[in-house]
Amino acid sequence: MGGRIYIFSGPSGAGKSTLTRKLRERVKNVGYSVSHTSRPPRRDEVDGVDYYFIDRDTFNSMIKDHAFAEWATVYTHLYGTSLSSLQIQLEKGLDVILDIDSQGAGNIKKHFKECILIYIFPPNLQVLETRLRERATDDERTIEKRFRKAVAEMRECEWYDYLIVNDDMDDAYRKAESIIISERCKKQRVLPGIRGIFGI
Ligand code: ADP
Ligand code: 5GP
Repeated sequence: MGGRIYIFSGPSGAGKSTLTRKLRERVKNVGYSVSHTSRPPRRDEVDGVDYYFIDRDTFNSMIKDHAFAEWATVYTHLYGTSLSSLQIQLEKGLDVILDIDSQGAGNIKKHFKECILIYIFPPNLQVLETRLRERATDDERTIEKRFRKAVAEMRECEWYDYLIVNDDMDDAYRKAESIIISERCKKQRVLPGIRGIFGI
């Protein structure tokens, strides 16, 4: 049986990158979809690890070549999920983690109905603003733009499967890991193998 897609969304600064990085490092048989973006890299970001950083022309030609499972404009930059990378990982049986916005989540859900949608919240707006500022990766205008969009973005949680409030990171991590482990124990995933072993 192929792997499943786990989508993590939430407002900028909620903790998605930190959380999904930990899941990539610690959970077995988990892959990660490295997105393409036209956004310039932040100081600690590594090309091919955090994102594939490409220019707009390259991004647009990839759209024309149908290279993306989904793509969207988010806070003025282009972001997209590579279709081939996603398919290769799923075919290997890996569960693939995507850190994408709600537009992208809606588009992936149309094609991959079984995907699992997880929404990450900050404990409150004040903490969200502090995290965006203390991350110190964006200029003031970018921070304001992202903060202004936070409440509208959070309304999209309605159609997600799981909601996690990221107050304490260890606690949020445990919740995210538990979701993946529990989903792996669902009957429809396990029963075919069990039938094979026991002939039942
Ligand atoms: P996102 O990917 O959702 O935009 P990040 O993972 O970059 O958010 O987190 C934003 C900032 O908040 C980072 O500096 C990160 O270290 C910090 N952060 C994330 N989660 C927590 C937490 N539970 N407690 C304190 N700081 C956090
Ligand atoms: P950031 O610039 O902070 O890394 O990401 C900005 C937003 O873009 C976040 O909400 C992140 O989840 C989203 N994002 C990152 N990659 C993709 C992608 O491939 N597709 C879509 N639709 N959104 C993405």
